[in-house]
Amino acid sequence: DEEHESDASASRIRVVVRKRPLLGAERERLEFDAVTTLPSPSGLARYCTVHEPKRRVDESKEVSHHEFRLDAAFSEADTNGDIGSAIGLRSLVGHVLDGQPATVLCFGQTGSGKTVTMMGLSGHDDGRSGVGLFTMATRELFALLERTCAGIRPDERPVVFVSFFEIYRAGAYDLLNNREALAVRDDGKGRTIVSGLMHAEAPNAPAVDGLVELAARARSTGSTAANAQSSRSHAILQLRVCSAALAARVRIDGSTPGGGKLSLIDLAGSERAADAADEEQQTRLEGAEINKSLLCLKECIRAIDTHKKHTPFRGSKLTHVLREAFSGNAKMVFIANVSSASGATEHSLNTLRYAARVN
Ligand code: ADP
Ligand code: MG
Repeated sequence: DEEHESDASASRIRVVVRKRPLLGAERERLEFDAVTTLPSPSGLARYCTVHEPKRRVDESKEVSHHEFRLDAAFSEADTNGDIGSAIGLRSLVGHVLDGQPATVLCFGQTGSGKTVTMMGLSGHDDGRSGVGLFTMATRELFALLERTCAGIRPDERPVVFVSFFEIYRAGAYDLLNNREALAVRDDGKGRTIVSGLMHAEAPNAPAVDGLVELAARARSTGSTAANAQSSRSHAILQLRVCSAALAARVRIDGSTPGGGKLSLIDLAGSERAADAADEEQQTRLEGAEINKSLLCLKECIRAIDTHKKHTPFRGSKLTHVLREAFSGNAKMVFIANVSSASGATEHSLNTLRYAARVN
């Protein structure tokens, strides 16, 4: 029955908001904290309120604040560790070990905290708050493998393969292989293949960290400001777990490992979608592509909920490569990152409206 179905889908997709603290430079500009997260009556923080700066409110005669209800709302006091456990990274990883797809996405304007959420606060690695979801998920995955594989011969255990690539404009580029251009195609059996993508075998969690570090460095080369570059592309880290038998084949022919897949995605800055109206050709093209992919992403996530037969995943390169993330057995956590700065309220509202629509 319908109610039962919507209950099931509610647990498949979770939409949460994470507010980042006001930064020193913002305080100096006399910006104020415009975002409040509030507990629901049951105690769990689920409400996020954005307060409009007074000047704007007076001019436009609009309401002074906007409230959103999500599956969870994290404040500046919550660490990456708090978020990882609240969104159930461990159970997502279990889903992947069962051979299913699980996806975590960070969405928000440039500077809202997406990379801090995924990669951690660099220089703050105290083993807890410093690491991001990438590392936490990887550790959970290997810990669970260790527990479930006790007693199984090492050469018969499942194998973890790592890939890391980015979508920039309508192209895909391998971050583990000198930004090699990659072709995206259908395999005719309902799967999307990113052909030429490197699948690096990882024996343990630190090995994945090493690969991610290399990739992050590759991502920022060729541009003066790392954030300028990363704000224009979607970065996709994937951990695949496949059987020892399948792994043997992957080693021989470089084919895409089957089995469970965990995708962790640092999306392009959502404000870039507005650049579609920019006068400069380069920026306009980038903006148009980001706009298309984020609109299509929204449609595809909504399709999971409504049990549509046809997910419009072919509408953008991003959604095409994420195809399985929208299938009926997939689990997804959508993290809306917002800045608390009063100067960013317009963007924060846009992010929360988007999140409310996929929720
Ligand atoms: P994005 O990837 O969305 O562009 P970043 O993750 O690079 O944003 O964060 C932008 C800035 O905000 C950085 O200076 C970062 O250190 C700071 N920041 C983001 N999230 C937090 C947080 N939870 N705690 C402290 N500082 C943060
Ligand atoms: Mg970033």
